[in-house]
Amino acid sequence: MARLEEAMEQLRAGGAVLILEGEERFDAEGLVALAAEHLSDEAAHSLEAQAQSRLYLACVRDAETRSDVTLAEGLASAQPASSAERAAAVRRALAARDVLNSSAEAGLMVAYGEPGGVLARRRPLEGALDLMRLSGLTGPAALFTVNTKAGRAARLDELVALAQTRGLPRITLAEIADYRVDHEVLVEEIASANLPSAYSPAGLRARAFRSLIDGLEHLALVKGEPREGALVRVHSECLTGDVLGSLRCDCGDQLRAALAQIGASQSGALIYVHGHEGRGIGLANKIAAYALQDQGLDTAQANAALGFAQDTRDYAAAVQILRAIGLTDIRLLSNNPRKSKALRRHGIRVREELPLVLKSNPHNAAYLAAKRDKLGHRLPAAVSDQTAA
Ligand SMILES: [Zn+2]
Repeated sequence: MARLEEAMEQLRAGGAVLILEGEERFDAEGLVALAAEHLSDEAAHSLEAQAQSRLYLACVRDAETRSDVTLAEGLASAQPASSAERAAAVRRALAARDVLNSSAEAGLMVAYGEPGGVLARRRPLEGALDLMRLSGLTGPAALFTVNTKAGRAARLDELVALAQTRGLPRITLAEIADYRVDHEVLVEEIASANLPSAYSPAGLRARAFRSLIDGLEHLALVKGEPREGALVRVHSECLTGDVLGSLRCDCGDQLRAALAQIGASQSGALIYVHGHEGRGIGLANKIAAYALQDQGLDTAQANAALGFAQDTRDYAAAVQILRAIGLTDIRLLSNNPRKSKALRRHGIRVREELPLVLKSNPHNAAYLAAKRDKLGHRLPAAVSDQTAA
């Protein structure tokens, strides 16, 4: 958090910051950003020289913006030839009524970021624009892609070296995303109603939420009033397992077991999270992964073969819904340590993790063993033995 505060302070003071895609991969992307309103001739010149690139402007895409990038066509001769001319063109554009058209006419490139920022699209461009907004700066950002003298994109170590040489604070997209999840309201409650339920004689309260980032709708089934240590299940949508009786996974059994426990409790909730199908890869891709599993791959290998990370699920919406319904001190029904870790990282107190241990069947035993052995889920050692049985 200190790094983020430092980066925001630097932007407000007219300085530049380095936005990094991440700090794990050597080929992580990055760019240098500062508020266009603070761009001096000197900054334009020295940053362009060090970044080996031409500065461009960036702003958030609006309803009328169609392309990712605008550059006035056929105006090559009108493009500013030097960093000082580009800095002057930025100042003229900022003074004009229509900043973006003026920029394009002046031959400045303008890139557009998604309105949802890093929570909608994880690129340094969105990171820069989010950081501008969080810093209270409303105008466009001036950005510099960082290249080496040989003309290729700078790698992580080269980006970090540039930041150290210039004394630039550096910040990752994950830090910006985490800050936003902790400080912004990203879901809205759309409706709520009583839901008589087979799992709770007293009935459950169905509270429907919509994400302000991606429009996905999520449901909280709430039992009783919020209490410390309330029983919570954050359940990832699984159409085939939850609804259609698929035996390929254990989702339906987990869902029903969790509802039964929550329904019998004094206080609790089941958060049904949409967009989590197939650990985040979507329904059709999940079926494609099943097809690969039919050829002998396990669930982790199949997702990898389709080009997906092992688990692309994001828990920001679940965190926000738990906060909205007042359940921030919970006992979590889950076999997945990654889930409790994600909730804890955003200030939900998970005082206990209660595993949902259910009987495996001949169709899902290998799947459960892979979840245990490759994805770290807490499942009994006996799971794989039952495959042979
Ligand atoms: Zn499932």
